[in-house]
Amino acid sequence: MNKLDSALVSSALAQQGYELTDKATDADVIIINTCSVREHAEDRVFSNLGHIKHLKKDRPQLLVAVIGCMAQRLGEELLSHDSVDIVAGPTQIDEIPALITRALAEHQKQLSVTDEIRRQPPDERESELDDFEVAYDSDKHHLKSQAFIRVMRGCNNFCSYCIVPYVRGPEVSRPPAVIFEQARRLAEQGIRQITLLGQTVNSYRYKGARIYTLADLLEQISEIEGLHWIRFITSHPGKFEESILNAMATLPKVCPYLHIPAQSGSNKILKAMNRGYTAEQYIELMDKARAIVPDLAIAGDFIVGFPGETDEDFQATEHMIRRVRYKNCFIFKYSPRPGTRAEQKLADDVPAEVKQQRNVRLLEVVNQIAEANNRVFEGRTLEVLVEGPSKKAHLNKAEHLNEPQLIGRTAHDYIVVFNGPESLTGQFVNVRIVKTSALTLFGELA
Ligand code: SAH
Ligand code: SF4
Repeated sequence: MNKLDSALVSSALAQQGYELTDKATDADVIIINTCSVREHAEDRVFSNLGHIKHLKKDRPQLLVAVIGCMAQRLGEELLSHDSVDIVAGPTQIDEIPALITRALAEHQKQLSVTDEIRRQPPDERESELDDFEVAYDSDKHHLKSQAFIRVMRGCNNFCSYCIVPYVRGPEVSRPPAVIFEQARRLAEQGIRQITLLGQTVNSYRYKGARIYTLADLLEQISEIEGLHWIRFITSHPGKFEESILNAMATLPKVCPYLHIPAQSGSNKILKAMNRGYTAEQYIELMDKARAIVPDLAIAGDFIVGFPGETDEDFQATEHMIRRVRYKNCFIFKYSPRPGTRAEQKLADDVPAEVKQQRNVRLLEVVNQIAEANNRVFEGRTLEVLVEGPSKKAHLNKAEHLNEPQLIGRTAHDYIVVFNGPESLTGQFVNVRIVKTSALTLFGELA
């Protein structure tokens, strides 16, 4: 979501004549797009602002904007920081170019956040944000041939640990006609993979002439010529409709990949997290998903060290990971977020060392499973969408060693590394897998 916001803002500024630089010392304006999901992410922003303070000493005219979730959460407090000139929340991304112009003209700090973030935004505001989204979606893509389209804003789930509903506001589904038109235009411009984004993307629901669901979107977007793969993230296991699985099973362009976080395997913890399902219901849903989409790749998120998590609760999580056999999991240490129900009502009582041990242990389990799973790919040829040169030098005793090492992903979201010309970036190629590890498949261009 943040990558998309950053891309929209930078292409809006590019159209106003700004140029992107990757060196802070060259910049006239520095924009920091922030995340509030864990304290660590916020700490890093403050440490960056500390560095920027030194830059500002030499160049007092340097303008610094802090945008995104942290801006909404801290508002005035952030604005009072010596380094900060502009603070704008995630529901104000369309105002950023104007805020910069005003700050330059008036030599004054600018603040734009939503006062009552949980209030349903008026329709005009929604269409303004939609217009911004549509106007600036085509300039800048995180990866060649790939684009994100937001289908929903905000979240109404209020998982007890989570800050998102308090910084991104209420859940709103964007009109299907606008989404479809965006997808069609992006495909025309050469985009081959579209990822639909929402905090709980499976609950997409738009009331027009009839009710449109995520399955309807998948079906419509599938018909667009030129598009090859369609993905959607992130799914919530509560109220997951079978129609989405059926769409995945029957529409060849919809990738057989589900990112569907369980967060914990213990019913006691799931209840305290306000997730709205039990471990048994989650496992039943995953079994059903695999029955409908037999080769489905499942990815998850887990939080370790949630308040009250005992060894027994933790073992239940370990058990769930073994039972579901995830393709990969993101593991997070619980971080109390100010204003959330968990932070207000529950003591952060799992010691830091225990959180750390549990984090390491779960990663070991996830990797064990992945290592065994990935071996089945040895000798197979897979279709890969090439992302570009690999940033990390992988050990790969393959052919074409005179060519750079490229990285790409399969429809199931497996990471594939192989040697080939950089000109393949953004293209689909076939790669024969020769070696595998827990995180990577290594291959040769077929
Ligand atoms: N809307 C998505 C993702 C939300 S944030 C979803 O519901 O799946 C991404 C991940 O961060 C979550 O899945 C959760 O595992 C983690 N997370 C959220 N709040 C957290 C907190 N307070 N401490 C640690 N991890 C957290
Ligand atoms: Fe946060 Fe839960 Fe909403 Fe995901 S579904 S954004 S974890 S409140």
